[in-house]
Amino acid sequence: MIDLNELLEQVWPLASQRSSQPETVPLRRALGRVLAADVSSAIDVPQHDNSGMDGYAVCVADCQLATQFEVSQRVPAGSSPSPLKPGTVARIFTGAPIPPGADAVVMQEDVVVNEDGSVAFAVLPKQGQWIRSAGEDISRGQVLLQQGTRLGAIHIGLLASIGVPQVNVFKRLKVGVMATGSELQSPGQPLQAGQIYNSNEFVWCGLLESMHIDVQSVGVVPDNFEATCAALESLADCDAVVSSGGVSVGEEDHVKPAIEEVGELRSWKVAMKPGKPIAFGHINRQGGGHSWFFGLPGNPVSSAVAFKLIVKPFLNLLEGQSLHQVDWRHRTRKVQAAFDWQKPDSRREEFLRVDVQSGKATLFANQSSGVLTSLAQSTGLVRLAKGQQVNIGDWVDYVSYQDLMK
Ligand code: AMP
Ligand code: MG
Repeated sequence: MIDLNELLEQVWPLASQRSSQPETVPLRRALGRVLAADVSSAIDVPQHDNSGMDGYAVCVADCQLATQFEVSQRVPAGSSPSPLKPGTVARIFTGAPIPPGADAVVMQEDVVVNEDGSVAFAVLPKQGQWIRSAGEDISRGQVLLQQGTRLGAIHIGLLASIGVPQVNVFKRLKVGVMATGSELQSPGQPLQAGQIYNSNEFVWCGLLESMHIDVQSVGVVPDNFEATCAALESLADCDAVVSSGGVSVGEEDHVKPAIEEVGELRSWKVAMKPGKPIAFGHINRQGGGHSWFFGLPGNPVSSAVAFKLIVKPFLNLLEGQSLHQVDWRHRTRKVQAAFDWQKPDSRREEFLRVDVQSGKATLFANQSSGVLTSLAQSTGLVRLAKGQQVNIGDWVDYVSYQDLMK
């Protein structure tokens, strides 16, 4: 058996020879994509000192409580003000540039407007108040986003805020999915004796789509060698293929021999629970090159956990992210166990499904690797070392599903 950490050290670096090429896409198509180059700003944001309030722009040195000021100009957002006439104030609105010579804004709630249109202040202004200074958000020349950043809505907003209409990102990955098992039935069809519904395909397609990856699924593949080889070959043009089930060493497990037939296999028993048998390798393409291959166990929990811990970061690396960015081990934190765990596995580390609220971890009662509800009703995984016992109140390592899928 191989330890999970050792497996990750062996497998992840292989993905750093990234298969993804850069391309330029308009901002509206960039959600979820990975930046192929650093982006720096060519402008200050905001570009001018501007008002943070509707009110009056003033020169603080001119201000006294009793003074009645003439309003010498009106500055709505989008206009370009003239210098402030000494001894006067300017009517100004949120976002409008501060007139040269003014150094504070008094909000309109603190201003008395006289019948003749002149104004007086209820409170003396402080220098700089309600002024948003040029460059306070982003300064010209600053590296705004680094290569490898996965673009979320706010990142895209930042790019828009510096006036960039398009962005250089790595190409989307295409990942093939297959679910092996002659017992698998599709949702919508009645279950015959001995059948179960195929859920893994749906979990994976969902996870992959949430990662903005193009998914090509061949659905259910029956447990026979020829069908398995044919399914694998049909997915060879993908960047990577993920398959569930059939990776043990039983007579009905055809994935490993099939990979040896159509490509190259390295397989391990990973010293982790759930998720022990894992096949890895590649599928050769007709015209040269290959697709990476992961064969995960069929048990729904094992397959989803192995996907998140092992496969998802590998795919992120293929997309152009760095090892540091994808390694969820940096995102583990300590939580306090509200459970005890007295029969640890001495040979395998364990990932327990727990619900963490206010730093306290409650164990989902059924930790069987076949119980998919354990994943639905938990917030993440407690990682226990081989042989680690837990008493109530112990601090244990925890990683949330949210952090795993970041
Ligand atoms: P295997 O790894 O093929 O031995 O399968 C292990 C267990 O997972 C068996 O109980 C299978 O019926 C179940 N299983 C395999 N594939 C799937 C799937 N796609 N969806 C749900 N359960 C599955
Ligand atoms: Mg099977």
